[in-house]
Amino acid sequence: MDRPANSQRLRLRVKAAAESRLRAGHPWLYAQSIAAQNREGESGELAAVYDRRNRFLVLGLYDPDSPLRMRVLLRGKPEPLDDAWWAARLERAVQRRTSLLDAQTTGFRWINGESDGWPGLVLDRYDETLVLKLYTAAWLPWLPRLQLLIEHRLRPGALVVRLSRNIQRTAAERFNLSDGMTLHGSLPAGPVIFRETGLRFEADVVRGQKTGFFLDQRENRRRVESLARGLTVLNAFSFSGGFSVYAARGGALAVTDVDLSAHALAAAARNFELNRALASVAACRREAVRAAAFDWLETNPSRKYGLVILDPPSLAKRETERAGAIRAYGRLASLGCAHLERGGVLTACSCSAHVSAEEFFAAIRRAVAASGRKAETLETRGHPPDHPAPLPEADYRMAIYLRLKG
Ligand code: SAH
Repeated sequence: MDRPANSQRLRLRVKAAAESRLRAGHPWLYAQSIAAQNREGESGELAAVYDRRNRFLVLGLYDPDSPLRMRVLLRGKPEPLDDAWWAARLERAVQRRTSLLDAQTTGFRWINGESDGWPGLVLDRYDETLVLKLYTAAWLPWLPRLQLLIEHRLRPGALVVRLSRNIQRTAAERFNLSDGMTLHGSLPAGPVIFRETGLRFEADVVRGQKTGFFLDQRENRRRVESLARGLTVLNAFSFSGGFSVYAARGGALAVTDVDLSAHALAAAARNFELNRALASVAACRREAVRAAAFDWLETNPSRKYGLVILDPPSLAKRETERAGAIRAYGRLASLGCAHLERGGVLTACSCSAHVSAEEFFAAIRRAVAASGRKAETLETRGHPPDHPAPLPEADYRMAIYLRLKG
């Protein structure tokens, strides 16, 4: 799917500001930035952008149904996007990660969207199963080709496709595709089990959030393991309990998972069981609480912990929610602080791209200071290595670790 039959290449001219942004490496073109085009374009065809002097700027995937009208695939010099080109593009993402991996970790991200030159597309591995997630309908006509490419290079036991909500209808009506469909091979009979840092976890690759697991929290989970010895741990917004299993292996005495979702807590219980062969996990007490975390933190002031982890879902899904999100992160941190013993550690995470790392860290530090407790920052962290994020729009993952001094 390159262009419709008997058509000229779709050509776009863009406004000056968009031209500079594209030239500077930005991967998106918004509909309102298009000054002229030679014809209407179809979803998924390639569009070429030329500058004011008619020089080629970028080639991208055109999406007439989205305000984000084109996503850049190639810049600088036009090249045919033939099989070799696509294979090289995949290889680049694969090579970026091979040095990061060992047999102890079979769950990680092969392709991280724009940051890897695959705009609006993610590919995750869970052991033998690969999960391809599409965020734009422009990829749908390319899917058979992508599938071949992935099968050829990565030889999965199963390939599952996940579709973001906004493209599910188009996918069903025009491509006969549904979210969670197995495109190739077959899934294991039970849940997909994979390893992360030697620990075993299940991923609900068909229905779970993201592609089934929060792979982007691996490095924070490792850090938590290193802090947990001898402590009681509160894991607020636990999802499937990743932080708790690591804390248990690290020697935590007890973990409390708090999440709104019964489904997530059931997965957390199974994940804990999956690792019970480890003496430290078997020795750790586990408690699960199904509750709204803000309410639970407020209404259970007597529960104190040595380590409190706060990892809420994105609190700012759009720019207009930014200020409110910063306040909510602060409120959460002050509630978390109230549950910490003397000398305890607060781990606060954000996955809101609209809140910058500086704003987030400042909000957490302010809240801790306002609670009257002195604290030192142990560490701040950003994106994990298999989720590179060179663009501000893709930079959403941040965490801060603070140790209370009193
Ligand atoms: N820490 C997890 C990921 C957290 S994702 C990990 O490492 O895997 C966010 C979780 O917050 C989801 O499981 C969601 O069910 C839960 N959640 C959303 N709103 C909530 C609320 N108000 N109170 C408690 N949990 C909530």
